Amino acid sequence: MFSRRPGQGVLLIPVCQPWIDHREQARASEALAQGCLAGGGGYVNAFETQWASHCHRTHALAVNNGTAALELAVHCLNLPPGSEVILPDFTIISCVRAVLSQGLIPVFVDVDPITWNLRSDAARAALTDRTAALMPVHMYGLPVDMDPLLSLAEAHQLKVIEDAAEAHGAVYRGRPCGSFGDISVFSFYANKIVTTGEGGMILFDNPAFLAPAQRYRELGFDPERRFRSSGPGANLRFTALQAAVGLAQIEKLDESLARKQHLAQRYREGLGDVPGLQHPVSDPDSGHVYWMYGIVLDESLQLDGATLIQRLHALGVDSRPFFLGMHEQPYLHQLGYCPSPEAFPISRRLARQGVYLPSGTTLTDSEIDRVIEAVHTVLR
Ligand SMILES: *Cc1c(COP(=O)(O)O)cnc(C)c1O
Repeated sequence: MFSRRPGQGVLLIPVCQPWIDHREQARASEALAQGCLAGGGGYVNAFETQWASHCHRTHALAVNNGTAALELAVHCLNLPPGSEVILPDFTIISCVRAVLSQGLIPVFVDVDPITWNLRSDAARAALTDRTAALMPVHMYGLPVDMDPLLSLAEAHQLKVIEDAAEAHGAVYRGRPCGSFGDISVFSFYANKIVTTGEGGMILFDNPAFLAPAQRYRELGFDPERRFRSSGPGANLRFTALQAAVGLAQIEKLDESLARKQHLAQRYREGLGDVPGLQHPVSDPDSGHVYWMYGIVLDESLQLDGATLIQRLHALGVDSRPFFLGMHEQPYLHQLGYCPSPEAFPISRRLARQGVYLPSGTTLTDSEIDRVIEAVHTVLR
């Protein structure tokens, strides 16, 4: 539950650790006892089927991580080379790498200051005659306002790639996140709400994506002749051992979600009276699952996120900075993407002033209270 601070022997409350117990151990042992390590044994299929059903989708393909799932999703849409994909500037680089990997052009838009999510009006303003797809990201577990975005997509015949990597179990207007995109994507990385250590999945209803997705996942091999590659591909395979762990994780999803709600409520109550702190959206109708509990420091506090992280660390609390906006990524500058920083004031501010606090489902109440106390100490 604790990780030790190097060299000091002081206990550090971790940001997020996977919640693994006898249920994952039992499933994994069962798989191993059956000799299932890579594919085989039906574990991968069972995991795909169960997660597809949870997300109200027809088809699912598990892959080795969420970044690969995004790449696979963009590949399956088969968009004309040079098409533009609109995505939030405030996200993880995985989204952009997926777009670039398929010869498409990322177009970044600033996010909403309250939800930190992609807004449909901003997406509309970025449309050109080359726009082919939208990539909303449910940031930190808060569902994107999908209805206006889906209307925009429909009106302009745009595909939607839904990045639900942070939103397992989240529900928007009665529908699960992961059910909205032409193709939707999850990650099962160690800090995600459902984890298999590393892992990812794409979900969709259109059967036309099935064959290209299977082919790309396995080195572009023909279904009729193994080892004959008839198109682009990579090794994106998922393993039975991971799937076994994932099945146990799905079983305890409701418990994980309840723990996240509890954690968010305790933070909100404990830190609600601290002036100059912006909290995550708390409206129960928002469907927020609080993958991470993020706070944003007002400039009036004369404190940036990096300093808060340092001071919390000295008090035995680990925390993390928010994402760094895509317009500030050196790699994208090298590629010639140099969007004007003035176009992304919200994303820039979140990157500097945003910090997420320990948010793991393994945290005890007394640990959460120690975090709250530490934040009070720093900001006093
Ligand atoms: C975690 C994450 C990914 C990438 O998933 P990996 O499994 O780490 O490759 C993609 N998008 C978002 C929004 C994420 O949070």
